[in-house]
Order: sequence, then C-alpha cells, then structure tokens
Amino acid sequence: MVGRQRNAWPTYGMTMPMEAPQQHHERPGIGRLELVEFPHPALLRRTRPLVRIDEGVCDAVEQMFEIMYESGGIGLAANQVALPYRLFVVNLEARPNAGEELVFINPSLSRPRGTAVQEEGCLSLPGLRMDVRRPEKVVLDAWSLDGEPVHLDLDGMLARVVQHEFDHLDGKLFTDRLPEAAAIEARRSLDTFREVFLGRQSRGEVPGDDVLVARLDRLEGERCAGA
Ligand code: ZN
Repeated sequence: MVGRQRNAWPTYGMTMPMEAPQQHHERPGIGRLELVEFPHPALLRRTRPLVRIDEGVCDAVEQMFEIMYESGGIGLAANQVALPYRLFVVNLEARPNAGEELVFINPSLSRPRGTAVQEEGCLSLPGLRMDVRRPEKVVLDAWSLDGEPVHLDLDGMLARVVQHEFDHLDGKLFTDRLPEAAAIEARRSLDTFREVFLGRQSRGEVPGDDVLVARLDRLEGERCAGA
C-alpha cells in the first residue's frame, strides 16, 4: 500500500453486488498518467470492474489525486486519465492535506431520491459549465483501496460529485444530461473540443484512436475479468 488511508466511513455488513477485488503486489507501475480531454476514446467507453488491486492501481490512485489537485478538481474518474477501470477519487476540499481523500473502486449506485439542479464543470471539458439536474440523494456501494466494502447514503455536494464521476465510468459526460436547449448550446462547445483533439492527432501530438484504443484494451486485459 502506498500510504493512502482507507476511507474513514462506516461500513455495514451488506452483501456487495460485485466480487471483491483481490489484493496483489507483484505488478509493475502503471506509467505516467495525464488528464485527457473530450473526445479521447477513454472518456467515451464504459470502464470495466477491477479484479485486482495491485501496485499499479495504488500508483494510479496516487497520481490521480495529484492530477486532480493540480487541476483544481474535486473528483476524478480513472478514464479521465485514460485508464479503463471502474475507479474514481474525490476530495471535496480540492487540495492535499485538507478534507478527506476518498477512493471508490467498482462502485454501484442505487436508491436515487429527490431532484437537485446545480452548475457542473468537468476537467475533461475545460471551461464549460452548465446546470445539471440529478437526484439529490443516492446510495453508493464500492470498495476502498484496501479492499474494504464501502456503503454510503449520500446527499449534498458528495452525492453530486459521486454521480458525476460514476457517469464518467459509464462513458457519459454531464453534457449527456442536459435538457434540449442547453444540449444544443453544449454541442457547439463539444464540436470545438473535437476539432482541437483531431488537430492534435493530425499533428502527431496525440496518437490516433486505434493506438489509444489498443492501449485501453491492453490495460483492461491486465486487470479486468473476461477482457
Ligand atoms: Zn468530469
């Protein structure tokens, strides 16, 4: 383990809807991770459950917190750093040595209740902010980095962030949750992001989609079931 504390939340003896990931320590690191922007293919495909928590996963979590703090974010999903795993991190204080560093592995959401509208932004869509309607409360089940089950009934900002990050893991962005008029407005921004990304690919600054997808497939094969 790499010094990241277990989530200090109460856990309850409920049956988890998924198998516990195994603890492993013999795998090498995961390489240097970087934030990726829309429409990187990692952001647009569903991530897969981890079947092992190895040194590579611990390294990834460490880097994800660093990247999130550098970018001023309060949540970051693994596919935002081009990892195809069902894993996200949260710190509502957005800085190290403050707040609580939460790691949620193979999460599931249930019991959505109420409705709340709040402005959201996304590190994968820098500069774009829009009002998003979501359930006000939701129950989260997941695993901590230590392989302990986590069961939380969430509301407020934590419910908001967790739902935003969970959407990422399903290949969805907050722009997929807008009413029609706002969606039309967002589409213009998405088109611009797409032009910028394709430009970077055509200049060779970013590999082509085939290379990016092959890397995602390989990473899945290393740590996901039936990949
Ligand atoms: Zn986001």
